[in-house]
Amino acid sequence: MLLHIRHDLNTRPTTSQADRELMRYLRKVAFKAAKKFNLKLKEVDFFPVDHPDTARAEGVCEVFAQRIYLNLYNPLTGSYHSVESLIDTALHEVAHLKYKRDGHTPRFWIFLDVLREWYFEQNRR
Ligand SMILES: [Zn+2]
Repeated sequence: MLLHIRHDLNTRPTTSQADRELMRYLRKVAFKAAKKFNLKLKEVDFFPVDHPDTARAEGVCEVFAQRIYLNLYNPLTGSYHSVESLIDTALHEVAHLKYKRDGHTPRFWIFLDVLREWYFEQNRR
């Protein structure tokens, strides 16, 4: 099935207030994590509509641009990812900022676990 998104280039798809609030929360989590672990992060936002990964990824990290893009839902089915999954994806993309050239190596997964523990420690009770 092809994606049907009406858009002008360089504009983002229309989002609801709830989507923007969820993104605001994910952005806060990502920036807090980046700050805590001394990683430089410039932007966390919805995928630009013309991004090559928009139709297939829940998240992407452009490591050298220090930018993270997240899809709140699967653009093909329209079904939302769970909040837990989105938080995990946000942390996953933050982890890419640490080992920029590595991809998914063992030390990447170890650091992602550190980020997860940090997040759950923050949000316990
Ligand atoms: Zn990854």
